[in-house]
Amino acid sequence: MKKIGLLQRETPLEYLPNLSKNLGPDIYVKRDDEGGRGGGGNKLRKYERLIAKAVELNCDTLIIAGHYQSNAARALVGAACQLGLNSIVVCKKMIPSKNEVFDKTGNALLMSLMKAEIIDIEKNADFDHEMDMVASKVRAEGGVPYVIPFGGSNVLGSLGYVDCAKEIISQFEQLNGNHPDYVVVPTGSGGTHAGLVSYFHREKIKTQVLGFSVLSDKETAEKTVSDLVTEILIKIGDRSTEAPTILVDDNFVGEGYGIPTKQGIDSIRILAELEALFLCPVYTGKAMSGLINYIQKGRISSQDKVIFLHTGGGPLLYPYYEKLYNS
Ligand SMILES: *Cc1c(COP(=O)(O)O)cnc(C)c1O
Repeated sequence: MKKIGLLQRETPLEYLPNLSKNLGPDIYVKRDDEGGRGGGGNKLRKYERLIAKAVELNCDTLIIAGHYQSNAARALVGAACQLGLNSIVVCKKMIPSKNEVFDKTGNALLMSLMKAEIIDIEKNADFDHEMDMVASKVRAEGGVPYVIPFGGSNVLGSLGYVDCAKEIISQFEQLNGNHPDYVVVPTGSGGTHAGLVSYFHREKIKTQVLGFSVLSDKETAEKTVSDLVTEILIKIGDRSTEAPTILVDDNFVGEGYGIPTKQGIDSIRILAELEALFLCPVYTGKAMSGLINYIQKGRISSQDKVIFLHTGGGPLLYPYYEKLYNS
């Protein structure tokens, strides 16, 4: 379970005084948006082990499924550049674009700057099948391909968030001498959520991970996370027989992946105005809108200590500029 160093250091854990004062509970942010190159974000922790594995297998070409505004694809292209590996992004349109620069700015621009190799496929084409074809082509040309799992979320990738949970606990103890009551995350492919839950469960820490879905319905998301947790716990040597509770709320995803919600946009404004912290309309804005709602409804109390995991995605502000501009 070797790692390749993409982060280089711990990410900061910071108190958010203005937001806390406004809402009631003490709220902290874990800055996984800060750190690493290629634009950073939560995918780097997953790639540290996935790419170490690829290198161990003598692979020279990393293949990933994505779209023009994919953080996962952009971060992978960045990691490949840094490490001197090739990367290929198998790309389809996954977000209905609302303006003509949508597929040219944000992550699309960063990938273009890094000279990403992008292969466009039809909207209804099957990602796995298309990636297999790309992998065969790489092999035919004498290369050795490695296919990155969806969102980097298999067991190996998710171990990056077992590391993060450990980091959170030790940093929070130093700041507060205690454990946080909640860690709030956006839940997509589920590896981030699953890694955190697994560590807390193994260490018998009562911190509850609260996931706000950005992709699937509650049932699907909870099953995805729960299946991953089962596998991770075997891998990290958990001997308890009891399964941890998985909580995903799908009430803040709106019409679907990549489609902004009003509460998500409001949350982006609130965090920018109060804390100069930038969230995005696809992931962190929606998760923050869930957190704000839970506090307003009293489901999280003023006595609770909350950590919001900032998973990155800063480049996603730009393609949505029309919805965000204060005019
Ligand atoms: C991919 C991503 C997520 C979702 O993480 P999963 O591990 O796939 O659930 C959340 N936030 C950002 C910014 C992401 O890029």
